[in-house]
Amino acid sequence: MAGAISPRVLRALIAFGAAAVLALWWHSTLAVSGLGGWLTGAGEVLGLLAGYGVVVLVLLMARIRPVERGVGADRLARWHASGGRYVIGLVSGHAIAITWGYAVTAHTSPASETATLLSTYPDVAMATAAWFLLLGVGVVSARAARRRLRYETWYYLHFYTYLAIALAFSHQLAVGAAFSGDPAARFWWSALYVVAALLVVWYRVVVPARDFARHGFRVAGVRTESPATVSIYIRGRHLRELEAEPGQFFRWRFLTRDLWWGSHPYSLSAAPSDDLMRITVRDVGDHSAALRRLKPGTRVLAEGPFGAFIPIRTSRSVLLLAGGVGITPLRAMFATLSGKVTLIYRASTWQDIVFQAELDAIAEARGSCVHYVVGSRSDFGTDPLSAAGLRQLVPGVHRMDVYLCGPPGMTGTAVAALTEAGVPRRRIRYESFEF
Ligand SMILES: Cc1cc2nc3c(=O)[nH]c(=O)nc-3n(C[C@H](O)[C@H](O)[C@H](O)COP(=O)(O)OP(=O)(O)OC[C@H]3O[C@@H](n4cnc5c(N)ncnc54)[C@H](O)[C@@H]3O)c2cc1C
Repeated sequence: MAGAISPRVLRALIAFGAAAVLALWWHSTLAVSGLGGWLTGAGEVLGLLAGYGVVVLVLLMARIRPVERGVGADRLARWHASGGRYVIGLVSGHAIAITWGYAVTAHTSPASETATLLSTYPDVAMATAAWFLLLGVGVVSARAARRRLRYETWYYLHFYTYLAIALAFSHQLAVGAAFSGDPAARFWWSALYVVAALLVVWYRVVVPARDFARHGFRVAGVRTESPATVSIYIRGRHLRELEAEPGQFFRWRFLTRDLWWGSHPYSLSAAPSDDLMRITVRDVGDHSAALRRLKPGTRVLAEGPFGAFIPIRTSRSVLLLAGGVGITPLRAMFATLSGKVTLIYRASTWQDIVFQAELDAIAEARGSCVHYVVGSRSDFGTDPLSAAGLRQLVPGVHRMDVYLCGPPGMTGTAVAALTEAGVPRRRIRYESFEF
């Protein structure tokens, strides 16, 4: 993909940065001796890696377009979540090892060394507050706690990590052995933080504001697709410049009194033209339900396009597998993919099916095929999307490229069934409507 950074390249860049951090410690360490020295050395390494790790975590979520496009927002969110656990482990290990190491060297107890560090070392008290903030964010991000929180609560609590990073920064330069007496190391370490902050401001604030000014997004109309689903049409200027592709999504902020404060991701449900985009939204909560009442002319901040769920052209036939509202990105792909395309659209009831007339018309015009698989598992007596069911519905499925979008539960079982039906895992691409 042009202008995109692949997962492999991003992993290599992160690993290169980590290696550079280890080299920085090596360069600044003349010798390590005794238990105290080894503990202190380990604490320094862990601290440097933690200081680097928080920057990586922030950059993963900075919405840097080439990264989002190449790696995918859902994968970035997964890396961020698992990276967060490592960073909290590094910070905790750093605090414990350094305190213990200093205590051993000074022949004192860890408790008394803690008091000394907090009261006499510059900025260590602030860094300790940062550690507790990070631990707090880690606790609310843990799966069990997160399930009990509103998305918005969980999301806004994350802003405390920025405060934690700011609080912890100065102690790194003030007491970090790698930086004392090494102006070049101090310069490059500070530059890392400044560049990260600039990238966040650029991609999260400047680019959306610039796009709003350039494209002038406004709601053009709202159409009811089913009792629980509406399509929103958004008009704008020069939309082709955005280079949005079927399968991608934007983060939408509708500038009404009630909705302006929250931006929510919705996929394009049709390929955009130069002046019109469409999203299709199922009512599942406050924001999605309110979209039904949007008035034409409402201003919209559209941040994107994002996502790596983009068709890769090959000579193979394509299977699109949609569950529920997961039809939205696949509807956009169905209309634009060339070659032999089959769409399976799974829903619990016929009321949940949207775009039926559009899908049938596209299928007829392009010689493609749509299978509506409607009903509960008990209606079928078995899973209609099991490996055997898929083979029967789509002969030759094992030779196809598959694009899958649906609720997380369905995605997991469908990937397993497709793999069992013989589709290699690398040819199954999916989008999760959950970060
Ligand atoms: C990449 C992507 C593409 C999506 N495309 C579509 C689409 O085309 N059509 C559609 O109907 N839905 C889509 N969704 C899901 C949609 O974003 C959520 O259903 C919606 O944000 C729910 O908000 P709410 O306030 O109505 O419900 P809530 O009750 O507040 O949230 C329900 C669930 O939605 C998720 N969610 C809530 N707010 C956000 C947010 N700001 N950002 C990310 N996730 C959030 C959380 O998992 C939450 O548990 C997509 C989600 C993602 C991640």
